[in-house]
Amino acid sequence: METTGPTSVSGQYFSGETSASTPVTLKAVGNDLIIEGLAEPMAVPLADIDVEAPLAGMPQHVRLPGGAQIEVDGSHDISPWFARHSRLERMVHWLERRWPVAVASLAITAVTVWALYTYALPATATVVASNMPLSWKRGISEESVQLLRQLGFFKSRIDLERQKAIRKRFAPMVADLPDPEQYTLEFRHAPIFGPNAFAMPGGRMVVLDDLIELTDENDEIVAVLAHELGHAYYQHPMRMAIQSSALGLIVAVAIGDASGLASLPLIGLQANYSRKFEAEADDFAIEALQKAGISPQALADIFQRLMDEYGLEGTGESWLDSHPALEKRIKKASEAAN
Ligand SMILES: [Zn+2]
Repeated sequence: METTGPTSVSGQYFSGETSASTPVTLKAVGNDLIIEGLAEPMAVPLADIDVEAPLAGMPQHVRLPGGAQIEVDGSHDISPWFARHSRLERMVHWLERRWPVAVASLAITAVTVWALYTYALPATATVVASNMPLSWKRGISEESVQLLRQLGFFKSRIDLERQKAIRKRFAPMVADLPDPEQYTLEFRHAPIFGPNAFAMPGGRMVVLDDLIELTDENDEIVAVLAHELGHAYYQHPMRMAIQSSALGLIVAVAIGDASGLASLPLIGLQANYSRKFEAEADDFAIEALQKAGISPQALADIFQRLMDEYGLEGTGESWLDSHPALEKRIKKASEAAN
């Protein structure tokens, strides 16, 4: 291995046990620092050594593992000896040799990321989402709509009379909220998304033909819309968007450049989050339905229909996330109806 820097330097060796020092000579050979002048010559892997950046005219301190130190007169900068052993590289070596520490630090990282994600991030996302101007959120949802259009997002084929009837039934729930004008409802035909409805940042709600065609009962559609209104009211779409983009950053910072790992914890945590948001939206829907004089059974019925018709896989459904969760949700809505 080619090494630049001085061939050898002299310094004072401090064992760390007494204040006495021993004059030594140092040189780099291969991956080791060779220390001569002690009772026996010593070879220490360069990767295990911590060396201070040189300051002009000041002695440079070389810290050996175990607490010994060598003070080198500052006239020869020995940093180049260590150049191939950057801090990160040394960290990796250090971790490799001490895998229990590595496992522990990974666990600490995981817990930290989890805590940030579970507590700090949602709180931050909520604050950011509530303070973000409506025009920004609208801009974001506009971009998403453009994208959806390219994916196959067409004019609704549901007849206008039925659309009108659904709107009329849904309108009082919106009118009940502060700043009702921010909430808008669109009917779209988008077969690739299956029987779906969703809320987008900025209060925009979209319901797809496939969902409406699943039932003749308008109240069931209104129940789904009430659920989406809950998402919109609690700003779930924007909070999710902020959280998922921020999580990548936190993970990257927390675990250095292990970018491949970053997406793994995301999946599990994200699903957890969805369930919490879904429960919030369901509660909102149940209350809104009751206020509007519609039985929450309508929500249970449409969930049941989706489950019977489509099973749980492959619906591309944003609000059906797992089987037991859905059964629980049906039960809750049913119970609220009685
Ligand atoms: Zn939902």
